[in-house]
Amino acid sequence: MSLARRVVLAALAGSAVAGCGVSRRSPHAAGTRTSGAPTPGPAAAPAPAAPAAPPVPAPAPAAPAVPTRDDLVARLGELTPSSWALDGPGVITGLPAGEQAIALTFDACGGPGSDGYDAALIDTLRARQVPATLFLNSRWIDANPDVFQQLADDPLFEIGNHGTRHRPLSVSGRSAYGIAGTRDVGEVYDEIAGNRDGLTELLGHPPAFFRSGTAYYDDVAAQVVGLLGERIAGFTVNGDAGATFSAGQVHRTVAAAEPGSIVIAHMNHPAAGTAAGVAAALPELLDAGNRFVRLSDVRW
Ligand SMILES: [Zn+2]
Repeated sequence: MSLARRVVLAALAGSAVAGCGVSRRSPHAAGTRTSGAPTPGPAAAPAPAAPAAPPVPAPAPAAPAVPTRDDLVARLGELTPSSWALDGPGVITGLPAGEQAIALTFDACGGPGSDGYDAALIDTLRARQVPATLFLNSRWIDANPDVFQQLADDPLFEIGNHGTRHRPLSVSGRSAYGIAGTRDVGEVYDEIAGNRDGLTELLGHPPAFFRSGTAYYDDVAAQVVGLLGERIAGFTVNGDAGATFSAGQVHRTVAAAEPGSIVIAHMNHPAAGTAAGVAAALPELLDAGNRFVRLSDVRW
């Protein structure tokens, strides 16, 4: 997709996110595994003489160990970050090369004034059978337990991790849009793992994708996300500028999304223009032959 398509928007204080990414690649796809040395499996002995020796089943591969808070502080706690961006190292800002679908993502940030639920938006997605990835913050889930369960039970939606307290992900206390970021590796861990643990219990599995409050990261904090087994979902198209766009602006912006895009918008501000704008854009995108995916539907 062309850089010209990318929508860069000034942010309003308190808005969840503005701006967009540059890199299409996901440099953090590699190197995010923990160091658990693979245990060589016992070789199935060929047993040349004895007939029909039953094969020794290979042991099931051990799940990669998830590092603890202390592990991560010891490993990364002394590092100095070198970037602070929406699209820095480890941040996915588009679908993999060659992927022609569009991924809609909607954030629910939670907290005072941000605990709303845009039922009209979700109804539109359901009516059109358009899948999406929903990034939910712990505070929003706590405020909307019944809606959360309905969304989690709906195979149209994938639930992503939008943090515990909706903080920009920094190891040095950087802020974004006036929201104070985490201050060290331990707080980065808390921001990811608090909601991750809750979602794992609620969903029965950990979330695959993470997006911080404001979608800002430094490169050390981004490493923590990867080491905890989640990929960072940036975006290509800023669909509603932190739920500040009019319906017309959302319509034009979302309808212009090209194949391979990740579109970000919000599902926690029902009075915003997001639902009407998306409702206007979807028929155009569908009529043009576009296909929609959840982030886990594509091969990364
Ligand atoms: Zn948010």
